[in-house]
Amino acid sequence: MKISGGCHCGAITYKADVEPERTAICHCTDCQKLTGTAFRVTVQVPEENIAFSGMPKIYVKVGDSGNKRAQGFCGECGSHLFATSVGDGPKVYGLRTGTSDQRDQLVPRKQVWHRSALHWLPEFEGMATAEKAS
Ligand SMILES: [Zn+2]
Ligand SMILES: [Zn+2]
Repeated sequence: MKISGGCHCGAITYKADVEPERTAICHCTDCQKLTGTAFRVTVQVPEENIAFSGMPKIYVKVGDSGNKRAQGFCGECGSHLFATSVGDGPKVYGLRTGTSDQRDQLVPRKQVWHRSALHWLPEFEGMATAEKAS
């Protein structure tokens, strides 16, 4: 499925080809902090299937596991666009679906890090659930 999107101010745009069934929710505390809200919704995109226009700023976060993740965002408006691995090797982008013009068609199929989900959220019916990473 072809999608398009970008940050709020328009400095960064992208076009991508995604599999909508690879959309997921992450309830981890890093995602809560980095988004400023309850959870994050992401679709996984191999790097060959996405093209950016504009230059995202990168913030590298270190997880509890010691793994580094590059967080791409717009330096002008602060919109979060993606996370990906750090260093060489083929990359997969976890694209933030809220930045996509087709966000309504990217329906999460699973949720991970459910153990840190905020208690006031409703249960999502029919969604594969992992208490930690998938
Ligand atoms: Zn922007
Ligand atoms: Zn997370």
